[in-house]
Amino acid sequence: MNALITGGSRGIGAAAVRLFTSKGWNTAFTYLNSEREALALEEQIGSSAFAFRADAASRKETENFVRAARARFGPEDLLICNAGISYCGLFQTMKEEDWDRVIDVNLKGAANACMAVIPSMVQRKAGCILLVSSMWGLAGASCEAAYSASKAGLIGLGKALAKELGPSGIRVNCIAPGIIDTRMNAEYDDSARECMMEMTPLGRFGTAEEIAETMLFLAQSGFITGQVISPNGGFVI
Ligand code: NAD
Repeated sequence: MNALITGGSRGIGAAAVRLFTSKGWNTAFTYLNSEREALALEEQIGSSAFAFRADAASRKETENFVRAARARFGPEDLLICNAGISYCGLFQTMKEEDWDRVIDVNLKGAANACMAVIPSMVQRKAGCILLVSSMWGLAGASCEAAYSASKAGLIGLGKALAKELGPSGIRVNCIAPGIIDTRMNAEYDDSARECMMEMTPLGRFGTAEEIAETMLFLAQSGFITGQVISPNGGFVI
């Protein structure tokens, strides 16, 4: 089985690359700036991993990635749209280019990857797509309006594609993680981290490995489509 993962150099994406390859999948993944980490991960895993530099926001670079992954492993069975960036700040002072970049990477980036794989999946009448949203796409986060909008957009995209592609044997689901201990949250100081843990009924951050396990579960669940699974420790219920 062959998986494509956007943003696989570190964090949740890297955990998914490790888990899927450990279960016998070939896994091609993208990175943007973290070349050292991406190539180290590829080397650590061996021939079942393939790292490729592609900006998720670029349709052309995403198509190049999909073409290179197919040349290496053959047609994809699974696409995980995981690449994402966050932006914290007041909505009213957000610069136009910052708004555009969040939407372009998080929402248009997923659409770019879906468009690159769907024709082949439709032709093969099989495939699975996972969109990595966020609990903030369900609940909205103060000072993260663009991020919340992009992640809510992914939920709409996932539900629409599940309806459109179900008759072609393709399943589409969203994962909406809570607070996960990755570099995305590295900017928070100790007191902010403690506060967020207190707001989480399970009293801790999730791990990247726990989200990767959710991805594997959804990849293997033949009758689940159009759903949003939110591993969030009870933060949003
Ligand atoms: P991270 O910052 O550790 O990793 C992000 C990954 O995306 C990296 O591999 C990076 O190279 C890649 N990336 C970023 N911009 C890219 C671009 N333009 N093109 C290609 N790759 C790009 O963050 P993470 O926590 O592992 O986040 C992974 C996904 O999970 C993101 O979509 C994020 O929004 C989502 N998420 C994270 C959390 C959390 O608390 N960490 C919670 C909910 C959802």
